[in-house]
Amino acid sequence: MGIFDKYQSLKTTRDELDALGIDPFSVKIDRIISPTEGIIHGRPTILAGTNNYLGLTFNPECIAAARTALENEGTGTTGSRMANGSYSGHRLLEQEIAAFYGKRDAIVFSTGYQANLGILAALAGPGDVVLLDADCHASLYDGCRLGGAEVIRFRHNNPEDLAKRMRRLGERAANTLILVEGIYSMLGDRAPLKEIIEVKREFGGYLLVDEAHSLGVLGETGQGLAEELGLLDEVDFVVGTFSKSLGGAGGFCVSDHPELDLIRYSSRPYIFTASPAPATIASTRQALRLLAAGKHLRKRLMANAEQLHAGLTSLGYTLGAPPSPVVAVVLDGKIEALQFWSNLLQHGVYVNLMLPPATPNGVSLIRCSVSAAHTPEQIDAVCAAFAELRELA
Ligand code: PMP
Repeated sequence: MGIFDKYQSLKTTRDELDALGIDPFSVKIDRIISPTEGIIHGRPTILAGTNNYLGLTFNPECIAAARTALENEGTGTTGSRMANGSYSGHRLLEQEIAAFYGKRDAIVFSTGYQANLGILAALAGPGDVVLLDADCHASLYDGCRLGGAEVIRFRHNNPEDLAKRMRRLGERAANTLILVEGIYSMLGDRAPLKEIIEVKREFGGYLLVDEAHSLGVLGETGQGLAEELGLLDEVDFVVGTFSKSLGGAGGFCVSDHPELDLIRYSSRPYIFTASPAPATIASTRQALRLLAAGKHLRKRLMANAEQLHAGLTSLGYTLGAPPSPVVAVVLDGKIEALQFWSNLLQHGVYVNLMLPPATPNGVSLIRCSVSAAHTPEQIDAVCAAFAELRELA
C-alpha cells in the first residue's frame, strides 16, 4: 500500500470530469473587475457565487484603510498573536467586534476556519460532549476532532432530536456544548434558534452559534440571526468570519464568559499560526464600521435575494430555503448539476457547484450567493441564464 493509493478514487472522478471537459473546482478568475464582475475563460462574467454579501471588497474607504496600514505597518506580521503578531490594530478590532455585539470580550483568529478550530479545541476536550447540527460546517467538525471531545450529531434543524439526545445524556447534558449556524451555508436555511434555546434552558449546556453567513445580513444592526430573534443574551459564544460580508479574511469569537481570554493561552490554532496582515485588519475594521453604520446595504442585499429567489421560483426551480443571500437550486443528479453549472458559466454567470458528500442529504446544488452590490439588471441577467437552461434541469 502506498500513501497515494487512497487518491485513486479521486483521480477516477477527476478523469471523468476531464472527459466531460468540466473542471468546476479550479475555476480561475482571470481578472476581477468589481465585487460582482470578473473575466473567466476570457468572458465577462457575473459573479453570483462569492459570499461577498455586502459587496465591500472594492469599497474605497476599506481600500484606503488597508493602503494606509500597508504603508505604515508593512506587508505582514511574520508571527503569531501569542508572540510578535499582535499589533494595536488586532487588539482594537477585538474591542470593536466585542462592542458591536455588546459582549465582554473577543478573540480574533487568522481565518474563520481557525476561529472554530481554536475555540472548539480549547473548549471541548476528552470527557466533554459536543452536540452539533448534522449540517454544520467542516470547521466545526474539525474543531471537535482537534479537541477530542465526544461528538453527537443531531438531525438538521431538529430541536426535538437535540432534546432526545440531551435527555439520554442525563446529568452530563448540563455540561455539553451545542453547535448551530445562523444561516447554513449550503441551503441558506436558518437555525430554529428559539426552539434550540428552549432545549438548552431545559437541559442546560452552552450554545455556540456560527454566524459566518448571517453577520452583516440578519438583525437590526447586522449581528446575525441571534440579534434578529432577540436572543443574543442566550448565546454563550458567537463565532464568525471576516471573509464574507466584511470582505477581508480572519475570524472571531465573542463571549461574555470571562474565561474567553484564557483560551488564548491554550488554543493551538491561535498560538501556532501567523496573525492576519495589518492591511487585512485595517480593511476589516473599516468594513465593520460601515456595516454597523447603516442598514442600506442589508436592505439592498435582501431586495436582491428576494428578486433572485422569486425569479428562479417562477421558472419552476426547486430552491433549498426561503429567500436569503444563499439561494440554492436543487438539481436531480451530479452529472446534471455539473453540466448545468458549466452551461451557466458559458452564459456568463459564475455560481458554486456543490456535490455530495459535501451537501446535506446527498443533493446536488447550484448555489448562488447574492451581493448588495448586484444591480437589479445583473439579477435579471442571472435569471435569464437560468431561464435559457430550464430544459436541462
Ligand atoms: N463557518 C462557516 C459556517 C463557513 O461557511 C465558513 C466558510 N465557508 C467558515 C466558518 C470558515 O470561514 P473562512 O473561510 O473565513 O475561514
